[in-house]
Amino acid sequence: MSEFSFEGRVAVVTGAGRGLGRAYARLLAERGAQVVVNDLGGSMEGDGADEGPAQKVVGEITAAGGTAVADTHDVATPEGGAAIVGAAVEHFGRIDVLVNNAGIIRWAGLPEADADNLERHLAVHLTGSFNTLRAAWPHFVGQRYGRVVLTTSSGMFGLPDNLGYAAAKAGTVGLARSAKLAGEPHGIKVNLIAPAAMTRMGGGPEEEPAEPAAGGPYMPSDAVAPMVAYLAHEDCPVSGEIYTAGAGRFARLFLASTPGYVHRDGSAAVEDVAKNWEAINDETGYYVPSDLMAWSGAFLRHQFPPGTDTAAS
Ligand code: NAD
Repeated sequence: MSEFSFEGRVAVVTGAGRGLGRAYARLLAERGAQVVVNDLGGSMEGDGADEGPAQKVVGEITAAGGTAVADTHDVATPEGGAAIVGAAVEHFGRIDVLVNNAGIIRWAGLPEADADNLERHLAVHLTGSFNTLRAAWPHFVGQRYGRVVLTTSSGMFGLPDNLGYAAAKAGTVGLARSAKLAGEPHGIKVNLIAPAAMTRMGGGPEEEPAEPAAGGPYMPSDAVAPMVAYLAHEDCPVSGEIYTAGAGRFARLFLASTPGYVHRDGSAAVEDVAKNWEAINDETGYYVPSDLMAWSGAFLRHQFPPGTDTAAS
């Protein structure tokens, strides 16, 4: 048995009929997990539906000796989220791992990006992650165990022609970091992956090539899957964190704050902000808060110097 085994574990991977989700589902199954391969099967923009992709991946997994069932519900509705988790419980009796990977993309920046564009992205990426997470939660709490991987994107750093997508992907970070806090007492860990792969969404062809093409970067979905499997494993050492993986590189992304400038001389004026712009932006001594309380403890530290008897101490 391999060191990072998933024997006895049940995993749900959404959007697993293609690209990254397919690679995650195949790796988890190869390591012994029983897998629900969810995929609505629509276009990259989220139009239409097709049972084929989920069925095909189930066929690949079973042909390789693994165990999987297909599910074609839509993550974007609460009923869909409940049905996807329900499929794991119905077929395999439990759920241990939830990988929220389903996604769409509808390229548009301002002013073309309209409310419908934003809503469509939010519905799949953010509400979709919420729907499955909420459905799985009572199972995780009941068994005092759960591993969740949500999908964000380096697009949240800023993507000129993809405002709605970037906004939805940034939303998953707040969702995961808050769920991390709720999950802590129950043995539930919630992390995020920011993948990079030449899937159809990543600029590659509809079907991912098995071999590198001459001249271009080689960024297969299989190069992201080991990070997702590690975050989904019992031995995952972290919760509430963001990792990026692709093309052989694995790294951590984080939200940080500069120590900033503290104005101690009466009320600050706009001129004080301008005058201290360098200090406000100086990254020396930056800190990485684990949650809001940790952030506010550091942010208000100057008001409660060590030795003072305060609510913050
Ligand atoms: P992909 O288009 O190949 O796969 C996405 C899958 O999600 C598709 O098979 C699609 O049918 C499914 N899906 C879409 N809407 C669904 C819904 N409502 N319910 C169930 N399934 C649905 O794209 P991919 O590149 O494999 O993307 C996987 C995830 O990774 C997405 O969340 C994407 O935003 C994210 N991501 C990808 C990259 C990259 O480099 N490829 C970068 C950053 C983030």
